Amino acid sequence: MISVRDAQNHILAQVTERTPPELCALTDALSRVLAEPVGAPFDVPPTDNSAVDGYAVAGDDVPAHGTCELLVVADLPAGAVFAGALARGQAIRIMTGAPMPAGADTVYPQEVVEREHDRVTVGAIARAANVRMRGEDVRSGSTVVEAGAVLRPQELGLIASLGLATVVVTQRPRVALLSTGDEVAEPGSPRKPGQIYDANRFTLRGLCEQSGARVLDLGIVPDQREVLRERLLEAAEAADVVITSGGVSVGVYDLVKAVLAEIGGIDFWQVAMQPGRPLAVGRIGRTHFFGLPGNPVASMLTFLLFVRPALFTLAGRRRVFPEPWHARAAEPMAKKRGRREFKRGVARFADGAWTVRTTGPQGSGILSSMVTGNCLIVLEEDRGDVAPGETVVIEPLGAPE
Ligand code: AMP
Ligand code: MG
Repeated sequence: MISVRDAQNHILAQVTERTPPELCALTDALSRVLAEPVGAPFDVPPTDNSAVDGYAVAGDDVPAHGTCELLVVADLPAGAVFAGALARGQAIRIMTGAPMPAGADTVYPQEVVEREHDRVTVGAIARAANVRMRGEDVRSGSTVVEAGAVLRPQELGLIASLGLATVVVTQRPRVALLSTGDEVAEPGSPRKPGQIYDANRFTLRGLCEQSGARVLDLGIVPDQREVLRERLLEAAEAADVVITSGGVSVGVYDLVKAVLAEIGGIDFWQVAMQPGRPLAVGRIGRTHFFGLPGNPVASMLTFLLFVRPALFTLAGRRRVFPEPWHARAAEPMAKKRGRREFKRGVARFADGAWTVRTTGPQGSGILSSMVTGNCLIVLEEDRGDVAPGETVVIEPLGAPE
């Protein structure tokens, strides 16, 4: 038996390479991983500018008490630059975003002034009010997005604000997916007696795509040694990572181990976890191989724990494990010491705290528990039964950042 943590460490130690960088249009870069840091070539905003529609004035002209009258000498729409400088007793009509005219350091919102013809009457105001300062968002020369960051909408906008239309990202890892087993039938085609429809290739495909990988679907492989061997060699040729599900337990037809031992190298682990004990990890040439268990919950879970961090690492992501959250157990939970258990949970925020209950029966074939649940409840190795009210770790199910 090997612990979840040791299995993860072994796997990540094997992933020493990174997918190569490529240039990507900013418009196509959502969810991609930055290969090089993005630095700011200038301050953003590039000049002090007005935060409101109103009147720009010199702070020295502002009355400490009462009011005074200023002469409006120009009208400055956004994008226009005032050529001269503001003299004493003058104001400039200014629009949001327009650069501050020379000599002005304060802006009155238009709602707080009285305008009559070319004059405004103004009252007291704090100096520098309603001015956005040059560089207050980004300083010239600073790193705005680090290498290894995943590009979310806000990163895309910030990079665009620097005038950049392309970014250097890592290539998406290529994953070849296969299901194994004579009992597995293709959805959309008739099912023979004794067969079940393939679920794993669809959950795993979704998980791979959510994790930033491109998927090559190699279908269902029957439990025949030669066919499996050919298909695995083909998969390894085309992909950075090959994932199979099924055929790694100790049944008579569990060929994955035997074939891998022939065409590559394989470690076969019993991981101290529930569900999802058997896991095969190996190589076919330069390609990483993961043989996941056939039970649908176990194959999803082992993907999340062992394959996703590897895909993230390949793609150069800085963070490869999700941030844990905490919740109070809303019900008792049975737990065996000595292994890590992952229950599907429904977490809710109620009365000022997160609470979590299980989705009900937790068998590793009950895929609907992943649909009903919105999180995994992670019960650590050294923990026994959980009583209601105890704090537990939860990990949200869904696309991680
Ligand atoms: P195995 O690891 O091949 O012994 O499979 C364990 C269990 O998972 C068996 O009940 C299989 O029928 C089931 N199973 C295997 N592959 C799939 C699949 N692709 N989709 C759904 N269930 C599967
Ligand atoms: Mg099988």
